[in-house]
Amino acid sequence: MGSRRDFLEKLTVSTISLPLLYNPTNLFAASDEAYDGPILKVAIMGLGSYARRVAKAMESCKRAKLTGVISGTPSKIVEWRAKYGIPEKNCYNYDNFDRIKENPDIDVVYVITPNGLHKDQTIRVAKAGKHVICEKPMGINAQEGQEMVDACKAANVKLLIGYRMHYEPKTVEVIRMRKAGEFGKLKFFQGQSGFTIGDPTQWRLNKKLAGGGAMMDIGIYSINGARYMLGEEPIWVTAQETKTDSVKFKEGVDETIQFQMGFPSGAVASCLSTYAMSHLDRFFLNGEDGFAEMQPSTGYGPIKGRTHKGELKQPHITHQTLQMDGMAQLIFEGVEPIVPLDGEEGVKDMKIIDAIYLAVKTGKRVDL
Ligand code: NDP
Repeated sequence: MGSRRDFLEKLTVSTISLPLLYNPTNLFAASDEAYDGPILKVAIMGLGSYARRVAKAMESCKRAKLTGVISGTPSKIVEWRAKYGIPEKNCYNYDNFDRIKENPDIDVVYVITPNGLHKDQTIRVAKAGKHVICEKPMGINAQEGQEMVDACKAANVKLLIGYRMHYEPKTVEVIRMRKAGEFGKLKFFQGQSGFTIGDPTQWRLNKKLAGGGAMMDIGIYSINGARYMLGEEPIWVTAQETKTDSVKFKEGVDETIQFQMGFPSGAVASCLSTYAMSHLDRFFLNGEDGFAEMQPSTGYGPIKGRTHKGELKQPHITHQTLQMDGMAQLIFEGVEPIVPLDGEEGVKDMKIIDAIYLAVKTGKRVDL
């Protein structure tokens, strides 16, 4: 803890105060400040690689704690119970997790399973009366997303999407600058999101479980990023697909898509989503009075970037720690992040993905 304090003390007052203005959670997670408020009791569903990262990050949370697991793999439950001290009564499988309804030790279920399972699992959790955090993409199309939103509303529970960048300090600073008009009239956004995917048998390359290909998994960062960097909703998309390996990337599983979006102000976005290029993680925002450039822009960090005013110096704090403390604060105190991350926000991205796939198929511009 001491090293964190030292780290924070080295920051200038101005760099500390900017994220605090918009999201006090950001530096709270890294500070030594004591907390004696309510703790969000979280069960994770699907104990795969991202769940491991989230659970580790939550060890540093002040407002959120891992209290339960839902898994189809009994050996993982044994391992997680030992690692996180989870009582047996807080462990479930995919057949019996509706019983979570009777468990006061769980406030929220964090769904971290393959995309094609999110909708049904989210709706079951909502019906069990628990809040839901669902990983991106929230489902495999906008219709699924809307059903999830409706189910959570009907059950009077919150639905939040795992958009961790909405709490990331350098991202928050660029959004603050944009809101303050520091870039002037915005003209252009460029988002490039991709990595080279490995194992051809993994669920990410299975249309039923993934809902698509790179666009669902990584291209969504450029879509969400275009919206939070420009601060507008697109009104049209055009898109072109390139496929170099039709064995690995079967029908309905996109390898590389270039897409463009037009916004009401006249700003345009030009983006690339791919499973066939390494280290592709870059955002560029251009306005009449300035620019922001981030590379890496959405990886696990540290995020690096600069604007026309100089280097972005906000601290790196594990994204998922900020996210989970932030979501706890949102659920308990109604404190919203600088850009929303609720189910409706997720549906907006899904509608754009649907439109991009349609534009690829028809070769035509699709209006939103
Ligand atoms: P993994 O394959 O590593 O883990 C998924 C887990 O889901 C499995 O380990 C398994 O857990 C469970 N599962 C249930 N049914 C199935 C099934 N039919 N096939 C495969 N797994 C199943 O995936 P990730 O953790 O990488 O991704 C999970 C979700 O998280 C995705 O929606 C992805 O987009 C998202 N994600 C988000 C990131 C972010 O930065 N926000 C980063 C990475 C992923 P068990 O054995 O316990 O049942």
